[in-house]
Amino acid sequence: MNSPNTPPPPSQNTGRWFGALGLTALAVILAVVIVIGVRATLLYEGRLAVRDDARDANLRVAMLAARTVGDDVATCAHALDALGAAGHGDPSAQVSNCMAQFGDPANATSLTDVQAVIMSEAGEVVYEALPSIGCLDLRFAQLIVNAHRQSNSDALSISTSAALCPASAGSGLLMTHSIRRDDGAFAGVGIVTLDARYFSRQFAGLAPGAKGVVSLMRNDGVVLVASTAAGTTVASDVPLMVVSAKAPAADDSGADGEFLYVRQPLPDLPMQIEIRAPRSEIYAAWRERAMWVGGLTATLGAGCLILAVLLRKQRKRRYAAEAELHRMASTDPLTGLANRRTLDETYDREWRRSVREHAPLALLFIDVDHFKTFNDRYGHPAGDDALVAVSHAIGHTIRRPGDFAGRYGGEEFMVVLPNTDANGARDVAERVRGAVRLAAIAHEGTPHGHMTVSIGVAATGVMPTGTPEALLQAADDALYTAKSSGRDRVCIHATSGGAPCPAI
Ligand code: GH3
Ligand code: MG
Ligand code: MG
Repeated sequence: MNSPNTPPPPSQNTGRWFGALGLTALAVILAVVIVIGVRATLLYEGRLAVRDDARDANLRVAMLAARTVGDDVATCAHALDALGAAGHGDPSAQVSNCMAQFGDPANATSLTDVQAVIMSEAGEVVYEALPSIGCLDLRFAQLIVNAHRQSNSDALSISTSAALCPASAGSGLLMTHSIRRDDGAFAGVGIVTLDARYFSRQFAGLAPGAKGVVSLMRNDGVVLVASTAAGTTVASDVPLMVVSAKAPAADDSGADGEFLYVRQPLPDLPMQIEIRAPRSEIYAAWRERAMWVGGLTATLGAGCLILAVLLRKQRKRRYAAEAELHRMASTDPLTGLANRRTLDETYDREWRRSVREHAPLALLFIDVDHFKTFNDRYGHPAGDDALVAVSHAIGHTIRRPGDFAGRYGGEEFMVVLPNTDANGARDVAERVRGAVRLAAIAHEGTPHGHMTVSIGVAATGVMPTGTPEALLQAADDALYTAKSSGRDRVCIHATSGGAPCPAI
């Protein structure tokens, strides 16, 4: 209902405003989510590209290492194979290819990196390719002979040992092979050793980053040589073993904990090159970029959201200010009832509605009795307070939806009663008159001793005819009748078909 004290708020605007605000915030949130989603996808794709690039680069390095080391090692392994089949005959002929692989500075090899030794079944040195640098510990060589005698295997065996060359730093790689006579009886062992220095030179600078590792591994997973940025070490004392584990597929790659790895088999040998690179190093540059991009995107998103919230708040404040302005422009500041302008607009609107809907319309014209005397006796401020009290009495009486009360001017009020005939209007008027009496505002200058009102009532027939001004004039005339008949009463205009003013 329209409270008689409060003009109708711009309610259609309210829904539209809030709808628009909600939509704006939603659109901003959606845009931020889309931007973050696109950014995240791009970053993820960038991460995959970084991983692929690192894998490709490491694969190239692994292939290079597998080829250079593989060539050297394979030549010597083949020499041992040949020795195993040919027996002691002329060992130098068998191992010459192996030895020829070394001693070429252009290949980063040195002759002292390699040694070929042939042991008899009794554990004696039968042949040394380079007697001047021979450094194989004979007791250790005995152990190798015994191991081969017992294993009864005719395949290449790979191991490492620190007992190889006590003069050089670290361990070396051992490739050993049984030698048999024509009748198959064990005749000794062919041994090729590769010094740690050889691997140091071959693997120098190949390890990726500060924590990456290049390894020479047996196919059973045992690491023989490991090289990092800090240096190359050959594992000490990997037991002698014929390796039967399967070689990895070429271009094998994958993840292992914090590392990404690639593997390349050494062709025809039970060994492989593995390159391990820590994810932390591979993704370091990407992570820094991701943090920047993520931070900027998050800041942008947060900025947009904050702006949307501020915009929403500002619009709310503006709406509240507009609503307050509207209230002030339509309300009488003293009584809080609708002012004259709103009253005129409402009367005009209700008149047209009544015509449209073929419904009666009634008006009450209310005037405070002897108000000039009140002002004179009690003063203007007290007069103001009395007007507020009268307006409250009117406001609390006019409660039906559609009924509308306002201050017409001075100590005069008007009430618009849609869908109400003369009798109904008289009832409302009587209730208003009673409410003012009940307020019991002392007024010594009147016959009753308290404040009263006179009310003129005019109503249309079943539907308004004539003009709104004529109805207003009729209510004013009825008020005049009420005044001249003694005040403190309700009079209905003769044309409205009501009973005459009651005698009080
Ligand atoms: P009647 O019974 O015939 O209506 O006599 P009356 O004295 O009420 O009528 P009159 O028109 O002679 O005086 C109305 C007075 O109302 C005059 C004016 O000073 C006073 N008045 C009008 N507006 C205000 C207002 O806002 N505050 C106060 N205190 N007095 C007002
Ligand atoms: Mg008056
Ligand atoms: Mg008056």
